[in-house]
Amino acid sequence: HALSGDLATLSPAMRQYRTAKDAHPDTLLFFRMGDFYELFFEDAVVAARELQLTLTARDKAKSVPMCGVPYHAAETYLQRLLRKGYRVAICEQMEDPKQAKGVVRREVTRVLTPGTALDPALGAEQSNYLASVVVAGSNTSMACGIALLDLSTGEFRATEFSGPSAWAQTADELGRVRPVELLYGAGLLGGVNLTGEAVEEGFAGLDAIRTKTPLEEWVFTADHALPLLRSHFRVASLDGLGLAGHEAAGIAAGALLHYMRATKQGGLEHVDGLRFYERSSCLELDGVSVRNLELVEPLFSGETQQTTLFYTMDACCTPMGKRLLRATLLRPSSDLAEIDARLEAVAQASGDLRRREALRQAMTGVLDLERLLGRLALDSAGPREVTSLAATLQCLPGLLAATREFDASKWRRLADGFDSLEDLYELIATTIAEDPPVSLADGGVIRPGINAELDELRELSRSGRQALAAIEERERQRTGITSLKVRFNNVFGYYIEVTKANAKAVPGDYERKQTLVNAERFTTPELKDYETKILTAQERSGEIERKIFNELRRQLLDAAGRMRETARRVAEIDLLGCFAHLSALRGWTRPVVEAGGQLEFIGARHPVVERRLEESGTGRFVPNSVHLDADAGPSVLLITGPNMGGKSTYLRQAALLVIMAQCGCFVPAERMRLGLVDRIYTRIGASDNVARGRSTFMVEMTETAAILNSATNRSLVLLDEMGRGTATYDGLSLAWATVEHLHNRIGARTLFATHYHELTLLAERLERLKNLRVTVKETTGGIVFLHAVEAGPASKSYGIEVARLAGLPAGVIARAREVLKLHERAESQQVREAAADHVPAMQMTMFTPLSQRIVDRIAEVDVDGLTPREALNLLAELQREL
Ligand code: ADP
Repeated sequence: HALSGDLATLSPAMRQYRTAKDAHPDTLLFFRMGDFYELFFEDAVVAARELQLTLTARDKAKSVPMCGVPYHAAETYLQRLLRKGYRVAICEQMEDPKQAKGVVRREVTRVLTPGTALDPALGAEQSNYLASVVVAGSNTSMACGIALLDLSTGEFRATEFSGPSAWAQTADELGRVRPVELLYGAGLLGGVNLTGEAVEEGFAGLDAIRTKTPLEEWVFTADHALPLLRSHFRVASLDGLGLAGHEAAGIAAGALLHYMRATKQGGLEHVDGLRFYERSSCLELDGVSVRNLELVEPLFSGETQQTTLFYTMDACCTPMGKRLLRATLLRPSSDLAEIDARLEAVAQASGDLRRREALRQAMTGVLDLERLLGRLALDSAGPREVTSLAATLQCLPGLLAATREFDASKWRRLADGFDSLEDLYELIATTIAEDPPVSLADGGVIRPGINAELDELRELSRSGRQALAAIEERERQRTGITSLKVRFNNVFGYYIEVTKANAKAVPGDYERKQTLVNAERFTTPELKDYETKILTAQERSGEIERKIFNELRRQLLDAAGRMRETARRVAEIDLLGCFAHLSALRGWTRPVVEAGGQLEFIGARHPVVERRLEESGTGRFVPNSVHLDADAGPSVLLITGPNMGGKSTYLRQAALLVIMAQCGCFVPAERMRLGLVDRIYTRIGASDNVARGRSTFMVEMTETAAILNSATNRSLVLLDEMGRGTATYDGLSLAWATVEHLHNRIGARTLFATHYHELTLLAERLERLKNLRVTVKETTGGIVFLHAVEAGPASKSYGIEVARLAGLPAGVIARAREVLKLHERAESQQVREAAADHVPAMQMTMFTPLSQRIVDRIAEVDVDGLTPREALNLLAELQREL
C-alpha cells in the first residue's frame, strides 16, 4: 500500500490526504482538489464501483487508484453513497489556492453519515433516525439505554430497559424503530454479558440496520456523556430533562450528541428538547408483528405500499400528521383515558361534515414545519424556505379557529395554549421580499424600507446601471459606431466592445483591454469609476442582505421550541381529523374500549383487503365476527378450512382492528367491544429470517417460544399454520401442546389457524376452545370461497373435491374417499383415547404419509436375500401404491 510508505516520500498533498484519512479511517474521504473531490486507493475502488465512475491512477506507476466527482455535482453522488450505508468525510481546501503559499491547507470540515445527513428524497411520512445504544450500570443494576434523533425534524427521545430481558427488549425496540444508523460502544459486540443474556447474539436481529457505527467505549461513560447532555440543554441535572433515574438513557443521548460533534454537524438549535418515553404506556408490538401485519411496510420489500395499514389510513393533510400516524400505528395507546378522549374527538368531528371539512381545509397550506425548522438550523435554508415557512405560519390562526369549533375535551386541550406564531409570520413577511430568488447571493431577498443603507446602495447600483446605459448611447453618437456596446463580465468588469471592422474609428482616450477574433474591448477612466462604484455597492448590499437574513434566521431559531410545540399540535389535530374523515367516509364505527378481557366484533371487515377489493372491483368483503373473552367464555378460536379460504385474513383483521381501536380511531365493524390489549403476538407466515438462512422451523419455534414465555392473559395471540416447517407429527404435537398451554396457563385471547384437522378434536376437551371454519361452496365450475366464518370444524374432504374438479380419474377419487374415511374413523378413536390420557393422538401407520410408508418398506427389505424377480415385484407394488 503506497500510502503506508515513508511520509517523506509522499507529495505534500498526499501527506495531507494521509493525515485526513488516518483521522477518519472508516469513511470514504472526499478530498477537494480544485474543482473536483478526488478519492484515492481503496476508497477510489469502492466509489468507482458504487457510483459507476471511471477509475484512473494518480501516478505514472499506476499504484494509486483514483476517481473523482466535480464539486458542483457532488451532492447527488454523496446521497447515493449515504443511501447505500457509507460514511463520507469531506476534506475541503481551507484557503484560496491563488493566495496559498506552497500547498493549499485542507481540513475535514464535515463527516456525513446515513443518520446525520439530510436526504432530500426522504419521504414526508418517513423518519430518519440516528440511534445510539448502551449497556450501562453495575452488575447489580444493569440497564440498556436507547436514544433516537431525527435530525430532519429535531425529534430527540430516549428510553431504557432493565431486568433480565433488557437486551431482548432493546433489540426489539430497535427492530421496530429501524434507525438508518446505529451507534454503539465498540465493546458491546464483543460480548458484555447482561445478567445471563449474551449480547453477542443480540445484534443478530438487527440486520436491517445497514450502518452500525462503533464508537470508542469512553464515549458511552457517564462521566463523558452526561456532562455533554447537560451542557447542550443548559440544565444542571438530568432531572431537568425528565431523565431522573434513567442514567442509561441519558448516556445513550449524550453519546449521540458526542457523535454529532465529532462529525462536525453544525446547528443543533432545533434539537431543543429530549423526551423520555416508555413503552409500557402503549400497546406493544414487536418487530415481527409490525412486519407480519404490514402496518407500515409491505411484507416483501419492493411490493406495492397499498397492502399496508398506513397506506389505507393515510388521509392526513400535513407531513407532520403523516409522521404521527405512522408513529401511532407502531405505538397504539394502552391508556384508556387517552383512547377514550381521542374516540370522543373523532366522534364529534366525524359527525359534522361542514366543520370537519373546514378543519382539513385549514391545513392544506401547511408545509413541513418541523423539517423547515431543521433546514434552518442546519443552515441549508434559503430565502424560498423562509417564505414557505411564512406561508405555513399564515395558516395557523385559521387552523386554530377551525379547531375551536369543536368542544370535545381533546380538541379543547389542543386549542388551549395553541401558539399560532403570528409574530414570527409578521417578522418574515416584513423582512423578506415577496418572490425572493432561490439563493441569497442573487440579491433582492430583503424588502425595501428595512435598512436605509441597503436602499441607498440599491439605488446607487441601479442609477449606476442607468448611467452606463447613458454612456453607451453617448459613445455611440460620439464615435458614430452604432454597434458599440457597454458590457460586463466577471473577469474584466465593465468594458466597451467594438467590432474589428470599427476598431479604427475608436477615439484616443479608449484603453485597449482585450482582443477577440471579431471584436476589441476597451475601457475608459469614467467606466472604471462607475465599475468600482457599482461593484462596491453590490458587494456591500450583499453583505447587508446576508446580515439581515442571518439575523432573521437567528430570531426564528430562538423560537424553535415554540414552533416545535405548535408543529406537534398540528400533527395531532391532523391525525384526529384524518381518523374522523375516514370514519365518516368508510362507515367505520366507534369501538367500546374498556378494561376487561373481551374481544368482540360483529360485521367486521379487514380495512386493507376491503379497500383493495373495492378499488379493483373484484368483489366485496364478506364481514365476519369474533367473540373472545380472556376472563370467561371462549379464549381460543381454532380456525380450519381450505387454503385461500380466508383464514389469515381473519386473523390479521382481528389484530388490525385492535390496533385501530387503541390508536383512538373508529373501526370497520358494525360493533366492537374491546378489553385493552397489552401486547399483540403474531406467528404468521414466512419470516424475513428465512431468507437469511435460518431454517423455517427454527425461526418459527423461536417466535413461538417468545410468545409462550411472555404473553399475558391481556395479550392477543395470532398463530397461523404453526408446525408447518417440520414432519407432520412433530408439528402436530407441538401445535397441540401450544394450544393447551395458551388455553390452560396463559388464557390469552388466541386465534389459531391450522391445517391440522386433528386439532379440531381439542374442542372436546378444552372447554374454552371453539372451532371455526371458513366456508366454501361447491359448484359445477369449481369451489367457490364464501369467506364467511362459521362455527364448527371444517370438513376434511376439500382436497379431494378440488382434485375431482381438477379431473382426477373417478377411480382415484373414490379410493381417496375410502382411505379418508378409514383415517377419520381411526383418528377420532385415537384422539379420544389419547385425549383421555392427555396426549395428542398419534399412530404412525395410519397417519404416516405415503412417502414415509414407502421408505419404511424399503428399509425393511433384505436386499441380499431378494431374487431379481422379487425385486421387480416389489418395485411394481411400490409403484402401485403411488
Ligand atoms: P388462507 O389463509 O385461508 O389461505 P387468506 O386469508 O390468505 O386465506 O385469503 C385468501 C384470499 O381471499 C385473500 O387474498 C382475500 O382477497 C380473500 N378474502 C379473505 N377473506 C375474505 C373476506 N372475508 N371477504 C372477501 N374476500 C376475502
